[in-house]
Amino acid sequence: MIAYFRLVFRSTWAFVEGLWITLRYLFKPSVTVQYPTEKLVPYDAFRGALLFDPATCIACSLCAKACPSACIALESQVHPETKKRVPKVEWYTLDLGKCNFCGLCQEACPTKPKSVWHGLDYEFAFSNRDEMVRCWKPGFPLAGRVWDPKKKAFRDLESHIPVRDVEARR
Ligand code: SF4
Ligand code: SF4
Repeated sequence: MIAYFRLVFRSTWAFVEGLWITLRYLFKPSVTVQYPTEKLVPYDAFRGALLFDPATCIACSLCAKACPSACIALESQVHPETKKRVPKVEWYTLDLGKCNFCGLCQEACPTKPKSVWHGLDYEFAFSNRDEMVRCWKPGFPLAGRVWDPKKKAFRDLESHIPVRDVEARR
């Protein structure tokens, strides 16, 4: 009989304790967000999707040399008359399927601000291997485009959802 009442007391006490914790947190501000309509902005040193600016790149290839995964390729522009290479990029590609997000390309880039850098986007969704390779040409958006082999044309990234419009860039 005593054991029975002890059990009833313990169960009631556990219920009251649980209710008290619920009440304590009920009126505190929420620490979670309604993803995906609301998104947390990561700290500035976060290494998200790589972005590239063809307008500031000097086609020095230091990023490609620094990359341990060999996922960067680029070609510099050629002067139409002298046929000599000029410090402007003709095209630039980066394979996110091979990238390990080490940040060495960003560190090696000598331009100010950086021509290649980690943005703050953490949402990656690819429907096939082709979409992992981002391409840039002068005039392309900072997030790049992907090559569509069926249409034989570049297309914008459908799955790219920027966390915020102004990317962290040093
Ligand atoms: S983050 Fe690292 S692995 Fe990725 S492209 Fe840059 S250097 Fe290469
Ligand atoms: S992104 Fe930077 S390091 Fe890479 S080629 Fe352009 S200027 Fe050089």
